[in-house]
Amino acid sequence: MSAVNTVINPATEEIITEYPVADAAAAEQAIARAVVAQRKWLKLPMSKRRDALLAIADTVDAHLEELAGLESADVGKPITDARAEIGGVAECFRYYAGVVDKILGDTIPVENGVDFTFREPLGVVAVIAPWNFPLPIASWNIAPALAAGNAVVVKPADLTPLSTRRFGELVADLDLPADLVQVVSGPGRTVGAVFTSHPSVAKVSFTGSTETGQTIMRAAAATMKRVTLELGGKSASLVFADADLERAIAEAPLAVFGNTGQDCCARSRILVERSLFADFVDGFIAATRALRIGDPSDENTVLGPLVSAEHRAQVSGFLTPDVEAVVAGEIPDGPGFWMAPRVVVDPDPASRIVTEEIFGPIAAILPFDDEEQAVALANDTVYGLSGSIWTRDIGRALRVARRIETGTLSVNSNSSVRIQTPFGGFKQSGMGRELGLAAIEGYTELKNVFVRTAV
Ligand code: NAD
Repeated sequence: MSAVNTVINPATEEIITEYPVADAAAAEQAIARAVVAQRKWLKLPMSKRRDALLAIADTVDAHLEELAGLESADVGKPITDARAEIGGVAECFRYYAGVVDKILGDTIPVENGVDFTFREPLGVVAVIAPWNFPLPIASWNIAPALAAGNAVVVKPADLTPLSTRRFGELVADLDLPADLVQVVSGPGRTVGAVFTSHPSVAKVSFTGSTETGQTIMRAAAATMKRVTLELGGKSASLVFADADLERAIAEAPLAVFGNTGQDCCARSRILVERSLFADFVDGFIAATRALRIGDPSDENTVLGPLVSAEHRAQVSGFLTPDVEAVVAGEIPDGPGFWMAPRVVVDPDPASRIVTEEIFGPIAAILPFDDEEQAVALANDTVYGLSGSIWTRDIGRALRVARRIETGTLSVNSNSSVRIQTPFGGFKQSGMGRELGLAAIEGYTELKNVFVRTAV
């Protein structure tokens, strides 16, 4: 009998659905079909490939309410967030539809001839997605991979597979080469292991923990697969004394507690210049208490539960007796994997709260005395994914931005992700870039062709 995956609603602890999981053999068969599909895809005229990506965008838009409902129930994500994220999925396919006929090469001056470069597709790309932003993150990889001429096999996380499984069905109904996009839902140790070792997979695009990313990189080495790794983070927000304090405070809570802290870009270390430290802390706690926690299907809910009982236990493990945490919010009674936001004021910079990715609603606020110390604290981490700088001094903003070791920075803003701009990490936050035109580099090989013209 095949194994079954049981999908739980984290807000109610009720079973949403059960389905038989794919095994290693199913993953191998999907890859074999993808090889065939990729050849057909590449033979289509560019205009047909562009239209196919537009058709995917349209079908996501047409099913936005359904997909958002699945995402909300599966992750415990507030419905308003889920709607915005699924809207972003459609936009991502629209953006890369426009890229299909703009994948350019160079002409390079050389002696005795002319020299060109071409960007060739890789073949079959395996996308392995995490549970926190399931369909959005899958789409950031599926869309550029297709635009560049590849076929895709996708493995959603076992905890939150529903939106991606439904997306797979919707795409299968479109007029595309059969098996161009296949969703294979099964565990990392079977389906994931085949995706990362099969010789016909040219590239693995992985988003998840740094630990699993290391396992995947090792597995990919055997067949020299290309990898894009989007991994963990412990991002810092730097608030200088000349910042718009009101705005910095108003926007800081959701920059760490949004998606209940289960966000790789969470600004979970908030570094504040000492002269405003006390005011910032008071304002931050008050603003956090005002965030409405509850039923994710309620239009007014801002924070939902954590994704699973196991994850809540892991996050709670950071609240050891020596940690003085202010509880900043009230959670619903009854079932659900709820956890109120916690604020830890002025912890030891060497403590776990400050150094490790928590992936839950726990924020650390630390003071700094000057720019030098702020930069040193911000960079004192193995991660380097995201971060913010709050100041009205544009010179300082640019000076500090150049010194922070991170892939994505925002000045006077906490947003990290835009479809048009590259996204990815320094240091142990990963390698390679998603989104924007930069992603196309990761889905193509560079080929150089020299033509002798000298007689
Ligand atoms: P995870 O590493 O546990 O799992 C991610 C995916 O990998 C899942 O689909 C899982 O089934 C699969 N997997 C597990 N073991 C595997 C193996 N041996 N071979 C192949 N696949 C395997 O991560 P998660 O708990 O789903 O996600 C949380 C983590 O993801 C956090 O660390 C977070 O920071 C990170 N994340 C990073 C980004 C980013 O863009 N940088 C975005 C979201 C999440």
